[in-house]
Amino acid sequence: MKVRFRDLSTTDQALKTKLMNAVERVLDHGQLIGGPEIEQFEEEFAKRCDREYCIGVGSGTSALYLALRATDIGAGDEVITTPLSWISTLQAIIVCGAKPVFADIGKDLNIDAGQVEALITPYTKAIVPVHFNGRICDLPRLREIADRRQLRLIEDAAQAFGAQANGQIAGSVGDLAAFSLNPMKNPAGYGEAGAVVTNDAALRDRLLRLRQVGMGPGEVCLEPSLNFKMDALQAALIGVSMTRTADVTRRRIEIAHRYTEQLLSVVECPEKHHGHDLPSVYFDYPILADKRDSLKVHLEACGIEVKIKHTPLMPDQPAFKGLLGADVPVAREAIKRLLNLPIHEKLTNEEVDYVAECVRGFYSA
Ligand SMILES: *Cc1c(COP(=O)(O)O)cnc(C)c1O
Repeated sequence: MKVRFRDLSTTDQALKTKLMNAVERVLDHGQLIGGPEIEQFEEEFAKRCDREYCIGVGSGTSALYLALRATDIGAGDEVITTPLSWISTLQAIIVCGAKPVFADIGKDLNIDAGQVEALITPYTKAIVPVHFNGRICDLPRLREIADRRQLRLIEDAAQAFGAQANGQIAGSVGDLAAFSLNPMKNPAGYGEAGAVVTNDAALRDRLLRLRQVGMGPGEVCLEPSLNFKMDALQAALIGVSMTRTADVTRRRIEIAHRYTEQLLSVVECPEKHHGHDLPSVYFDYPILADKRDSLKVHLEACGIEVKIKHTPLMPDQPAFKGLLGADVPVAREAIKRLLNLPIHEKLTNEEVDYVAECVRGFYSA
């Protein structure tokens, strides 16, 4: 049996027809930049995130970058974030000119909210938590710190659309939140796309300007920026994906529980390595495994595609030449044992059981 880590092909004929129809509608009316699909997407996405405004952009990375720019974060400012994420989280901070400061992660692999306060200096401007793997961060605590210390809270919710805890949905608590809609994310784009959400009309206006080469009303350029707009065709396709998000999430959670039931006795499963009861939408299914590298070789020999991600940690990437100090022992230990098992909505129960059986087989040998 071959089990793929992800499968981005469109095999569902009904889905394919809906996508083709969506493309056709855009081709017919010809509004390829801006237009009704962008507006519909933004309205629907904002609503689904429990927010007033959404600004569609060209990628999740751009979404993060623009969220930081919109809050005037730049040279001389410090931004507290996690060391464990896709590199975009850090690049957005660096490219804005700010200095990243890393708080270690907790057992849930998310930023340890309890460490944030000690890292705040007179230069700190914002906290950028990541809902890593779709597991929501301790937002009430982060919000409380941000309010009390007058900092911006900007959620990197790229992996966490629809994740909820304490009646709050990912993206609904930060001053701003950034989402990625690339083909691996949920809702999936069919190419590059992202979105920023906020409740603040002034931030919304600033984002619209930054998205469009710094142009304000009346074609007057008000500040330096580039073109970060979302394509109308992409918005049309994402509109179709938006109708599937609940099904995708439900299936991923089902698969995660199926893995956990079978694997809990041999590896640390995501459900069990979090400190608080913070649910996940399982962008990935990360296990913490002993003899991780040999397990990977074994699973690959079984025809199972697995991935080691986020090694080295963001601050240790060669781009930053060791200049970004990061005192993050928990994250450094975690990445030695982290392994991501396949989890996507097309996996059958048979495939999930096969993966679990092969993991168990490795430890019983
Ligand atoms: C995917 C992702 C991004 C970047 O999104 P792109 O659309 O690929 O630019 C940022 N942060 C996290 C946590 C992500 O997973």
